[in-house]
Amino acid sequence: MPKSFARAEEALQNYVLETFHPEDAVLLEIRKRAAEEGLPDIHVGPMDGLHLEVIARAMGARKIVEIGTLAGYSGVCLARALPQGGKIYCFEYEPKHAEVSRESFKKAGLSDKAEILVGDALGNLPKIENQGLFDLVFIDADKPGYPAYLQWAMKHLRVGGVVLGDNTFSGGRVADPANEKEGPKAATVKAIRLFNKTLTQDPRFRATVLPTGEGLTFAVKISN
Ligand code: SAH
Ligand code: MG
Repeated sequence: MPKSFARAEEALQNYVLETFHPEDAVLLEIRKRAAEEGLPDIHVGPMDGLHLEVIARAMGARKIVEIGTLAGYSGVCLARALPQGGKIYCFEYEPKHAEVSRESFKKAGLSDKAEILVGDALGNLPKIENQGLFDLVFIDADKPGYPAYLQWAMKHLRVGGVVLGDNTFSGGRVADPANEKEGPKAATVKAIRLFNKTLTQDPRFRATVLPTGEGLTFAVKISN
């Protein structure tokens, strides 16, 4: 089951999906193949993939960084927004996921625009620093890593560049600070609360959160 759009009721969900038809045959095939390969079903939802593409197009992004690629669903959405010569740098820990995503970019006809770096993102990010500054950094890997990924993004985005963080509602748990201390997702909640707080308190950024089903933190760099 793909993730929902916002936290909306079913009739509205259906209306939105039928009207905006976010998922074409290429994206549907990625979700199917990922399931067949045994990858977890944690891709962005179809409407969230569309948000990513539209945001990247609206800002004319040429250099995108994605941290956490899985099967390449969100990566293909973002890569579709790139002009000729544009590039998305995808960071993925699991070799198997990286392999599946490579196939996804190939099937989408976007191989020339995607570079996949396999391994821990924090270890690999320095390898692309000489390609910066970047226009857009999409963070969607391990949640406890979000604050460290954010520090990297804040430094390597151009003014006018955007950082997006997925799953920043943490299923609603983020609202209660007690969830930082106990429960199975304590480390996640703590990291995401810090991630959001950092972006809202740093004067170099202006941040909001889009009320997608998962929560999509969306911040723009307004000064150096
Ligand atoms: N953005 C994808 C979903 C990503 S799921 C989409 O919406 O289509 C999270 C991914 O982050 C998983 O594939 C996981 O292997 C990867 N990941 C986890 N820890 C990581 C790390 N330290 N460095 C890079 N990738 C990591
Ligand atoms: Mg996500």
